[in-house]
Amino acid sequence: MEHEPLLMIPGPVPVPQRVRAAMTQQAINHRGPEFGAAYADTVRILKTLFGTENELYIISGSGTAGMEAGVANFARDRSIVSLVNGKFGDRFAKIGERYGSSVTVLESDWGTPLDLEGLERELEAGAEVVTMVHNETSAGIKNPAPEVGKLARKHDALFIMDGVTSIGGDDVQMDRWGVDIAVVGSQKCLAAPAGLAAIAVGERAWDRIAEKRPFYQDMAAYRKSGSKAAMETPYTPAVPLFLALHEACKMIEEEGVPARIARHRRMADAVRAAAKGWGVDLFPELDAHHAYSNTATAMRIPDGVTDQALRGTVKKFGIEIAGGQDHLKGKIFRIGTMGSVGAQEILATAAAVQYALQK
Ligand code: PLP
Repeated sequence: MEHEPLLMIPGPVPVPQRVRAAMTQQAINHRGPEFGAAYADTVRILKTLFGTENELYIISGSGTAGMEAGVANFARDRSIVSLVNGKFGDRFAKIGERYGSSVTVLESDWGTPLDLEGLERELEAGAEVVTMVHNETSAGIKNPAPEVGKLARKHDALFIMDGVTSIGGDDVQMDRWGVDIAVVGSQKCLAAPAGLAAIAVGERAWDRIAEKRPFYQDMAAYRKSGSKAAMETPYTPAVPLFLALHEACKMIEEEGVPARIARHRRMADAVRAAAKGWGVDLFPELDAHHAYSNTATAMRIPDGVTDQALRGTVKKFGIEIAGGQDHLKGKIFRIGTMGSVGAQEILATAAAVQYALQK
């Protein structure tokens, strides 16, 4: 019997049938009321996940496009401090360098706490922008957004936050935490197909928008098109993906945001409990003051098992889990519990991993 693949990686994640169906409807005019209403309603629901009343726009492109839009529009040629404790923190630094910003990288080992003392020093010395990844998917940890937001505000710096794998799966309070720009990707906790990013931008950031901006991802152009009576995007958007994301957001609203976050917590806790049962160490082992990711769990590959054998055996059951990235390749494996994942998927994955580890 043919089974659908079960993606238990940290995105893309399985897309519910209702959401897939929304993508297959006949083309609609992207400069018309039907599209405008779907866009506006998607924005309304996304704002509840971002914890914001700021303006929010949707960009055709993956999460990285959203990160790049944030840096290229609001941090170009400025001094940036990039907090790095994993792959995606480093990506922000690379984008900043590409746009001519002077980037100070405060690097901690992957999965270890961020250097907040260093951040305060850099802010005192006049840094204008802070970048941070809320949920560092490469290391399975959550970074302290409220503390970073407080420091950034104290020193009047902009705070750009990657919420690509936290928004929709963990509590995010953009406005309360003092985040000026936040980004999410459609294929992660929102359980929509890959290909869209949403970016929310606060007033402090609009006040400092760069004069020299990218053409395709010009946020001032997004603002102008978005302010029309029927919301639009500056250029033709990926309409089928917008319609799918709208359906995914309706499902999120039906579930309720607190219930959804609690479900993500239960699923991540279940994977960590299973790891204990398998005798596998979490990566990293955190003390009570630091937080594990609510949406992806990283674990060390035990001695005597190879990454290839572990993931290869699990895949024979139609289930895909993720390996480590960059220098953690072959050392850790990761299980994503994002989007629509529930107990049934966790049970199947746990059984397959246990079998693979005992083999
Ligand atoms: N930020 C984080 C935290 C991620 O986990 C990812 C992808 O895994 C990205 C950014 C990049 O997103 P994309 O691959 O959608 O460009």
